[in-house]
Amino acid sequence: MSDIDEKLAASGRYARQTALSMIGTEGQRRISAATALVVGCGALGSTQAAWLARAGVGRLLLVDRDIVETHNLHRQMLYDGEDARARRPKVVAAANRLRAVNPEVCVEPTVDFVTAENVIGLVRQADVVLDAADNAATRYLVNDACVREGKPWMYGGVMGTSGAAMAVIPRKGPCLRCVFHDPASVMSGPCATFGVLSTIVGWVAAMQVTAALKLLVGAPPDPARLHRFDIWSGHGSSAIARRDQRCVCCGQNRYEFLGEMPAWDGGQAGTAGGAARGDARPPGGGQACVGGRVSSRAADAAALQPAVRRLMEGECPHEPRTPRGGVPTTVVPAVPVKEPRHD
Ligand SMILES: [Zn+2]
Repeated sequence: MSDIDEKLAASGRYARQTALSMIGTEGQRRISAATALVVGCGALGSTQAAWLARAGVGRLLLVDRDIVETHNLHRQMLYDGEDARARRPKVVAAANRLRAVNPEVCVEPTVDFVTAENVIGLVRQADVVLDAADNAATRYLVNDACVREGKPWMYGGVMGTSGAAMAVIPRKGPCLRCVFHDPASVMSGPCATFGVLSTIVGWVAAMQVTAALKLLVGAPPDPARLHRFDIWSGHGSSAIARRDQRCVCCGQNRYEFLGEMPAWDGGQAGTAGGAARGDARPPGGGQACVGGRVSSRAADAAALQPAVRRLMEGECPHEPRTPRGGVPTTVVPAVPVKEPRHD
């Protein structure tokens, strides 16, 4: 009997989970042997991390540069007022809490942005990656890294009362850029501060973590779907997403966000509304993206390709299409659609 099997048998912690026929003892063993990378530790990331730790994922890698602030507390379930008063880094506060929740899980916090320089090293350690970033630039960076490395990742975004989620399985289904073709088209429009209803965070995180657990236990893969839901109205949609052979990323193997955005270091992890994010201004006086920070090297943006340059100049994603009228099943059109900002 392996060390993992002995721990599982001794603790009984996962008895109600292993009782599920789709998980069982073998599924739990796979979950306990797995490593998950959570990119961002704001509302989505802290919710994901809590569920992953309680489910017994063996190793959790948490990456975020933000500190806990009071305005985070209405939706970021791992933190409390003392974390905010102490201005603790979110991943440090999260790791403390998660170790108390489940000491069987190895939690490894990293206080840093996710950048083109470090994302490959992070992704390579993981069996599955969960998107909890607060801006589209990081999401495209994660998409590039995961497609290049063949790592599954779970996209998710929330804004206001609506959210979206999709599992990306490289080489077997569409990537983010197959669905949202052009970063510039996704991120055009003025920056604004959007509110977030805490309950939509739970819905999106639940979709992402469930997809991750299904993947880890080896459940039969589902057709790729982009799920959307507005938790206030109760309206949602679930649309089949198809791979685009012309996709810049998975079709042409051009990883623009890995190779051409070294100056972008902003907003890679954390939650909407962080103080540093709101204060950020690129050199030259342009409007900073609500969801991002812009480094002192932002002047180099002019040398980058247009889509990345527009990101660095301070544009940010804005309101997604709001699903209406039940839960239709349609094919995602091969045209750019707006993407929810993350939190
Ligand atoms: Zn693609």
